[in-house]
Amino acid sequence: MFFGRKNPFSPTDAFPLSDAVMEFHDSSSAAVRPGRRAMDGLGPQGGRGASAAQQWLQVLGLIGAYALALGGFYALGAVDAQVLAVLAGLAGLSCLAFWGVFAIGWHQKLRHRHLKLAIVATGLGCMLVLFYLAPVTQILLAPFAFVAVAYGTFTIPRRTLLGLAACLLALYAGVVALHYMQQRNAALLRLEALHGLALLVALPAFILLMGRVQRLYRSLYHAGRKIKNIQEDAQRDPLVGCFNRRYVLAALEEQKQLADESGIPLCLAVLDIDHFKRINDELGHLGGDEVLRTFARIAQQGVRGGDVFGRYGGEEFLLIFPATSLLPALNTCERIRAQVESHAWSGLLKGRVTVSIGVTRYVLGESVLEFFSRADTAMYMAKEGGRNQVVVEEPVAKGDSLLPESSAHSSL
Ligand code: GH3
Ligand code: MG
Ligand code: MG
Repeated sequence: MFFGRKNPFSPTDAFPLSDAVMEFHDSSSAAVRPGRRAMDGLGPQGGRGASAAQQWLQVLGLIGAYALALGGFYALGAVDAQVLAVLAGLAGLSCLAFWGVFAIGWHQKLRHRHLKLAIVATGLGCMLVLFYLAPVTQILLAPFAFVAVAYGTFTIPRRTLLGLAACLLALYAGVVALHYMQQRNAALLRLEALHGLALLVALPAFILLMGRVQRLYRSLYHAGRKIKNIQEDAQRDPLVGCFNRRYVLAALEEQKQLADESGIPLCLAVLDIDHFKRINDELGHLGGDEVLRTFARIAQQGVRGGDVFGRYGGEEFLLIFPATSLLPALNTCERIRAQVESHAWSGLLKGRVTVSIGVTRYVLGESVLEFFSRADTAMYMAKEGGRNQVVVEEPVAKGDSLLPESSAHSSL
């Protein structure tokens, strides 16, 4: 909803962990508020483009690293060009398949929609195929198995990784057996068995150690969520749910500076519910609270995306119109006034609820206090004029400076 480029409450500033956190929702998805879970994934429908691109870059970088190493093997004459071609084919097909899954949106139906397990398993599978075709690539299999596990460690549970390692070792043993059956080469069998033994011992140990990293990552995730929730709560009015006084005043200061820098127009409205004391008398304070909540909902529905609506205190609200000149701001205020007036309070109130609104535009260089006071004065004029109306306090030019014209108000 926010506006300025130096916004102190911008989500990115407020929650720098967000990129890391969104990958890690295996066991903690319940803590994630609606809207955030749609952000993960590699694909075009997986959420923020930058993050999806980053994840694709990661995967392509790892494939590139493996291809580079295999290219070195080729340069040294350890493998022939056919192996490189198989690698290119497997990598191309796998990427295409995953891209298709993300593009169609199938991953959205899955619990682990990032598909990290499938990506890691595919990578390991491709390496096993290459190992079958060129036994010398077993030298690459071990380090890149660690790389693949490290890639999946933040998202794939430890037990699943251990299962994956067991599958890898079983398939590795199968390939070794195939090599022996085809070549009857005892020296190769011995070498491959030794490599397998090294993997058998080191890979589970690595995964267990990575469990500590996972725990650290998980606690960072929870801390990040808590900070985010606290920050969100700190901006909200606990009773009404809209922005609170602190937030809306900070936004006003922010917008004033933006207007000063850029010269773009800015308007402000002060809204005050009419005879709210009587409403409290009729309904009691809890009923009055309900009226406040409903009023805020109606007003918020009437504002545009970039406008900032917040509770100033009691039954008074502020509405900031960034990059808006007086006429559209006035129209919005009038729409809100009419919607409040026409709202049916059936079952709650006998009569109607009305609101008095004062609206003004910002004069470059004036203080926030002057700006606010002019809108507040306009609101009091609306009260004096009989309530349930919008009054515009239009600053007028006097000599070189612009001063408010106290009598220039228009009741609608
Ligand atoms: P006017 O038309 O001149 O604005 O009259 P009014 O009665 O609305 O204004 P006044 O400022 O005299 O009274 C505001 C009332 O709003 C008094 C206060 O008890 C009530 N109020 C302030 N905050 C809350 C709140 O959070 N909940 C409820 N239920 N009432 C509140
Ligand atoms: Mg009032
Ligand atoms: Mg009041």
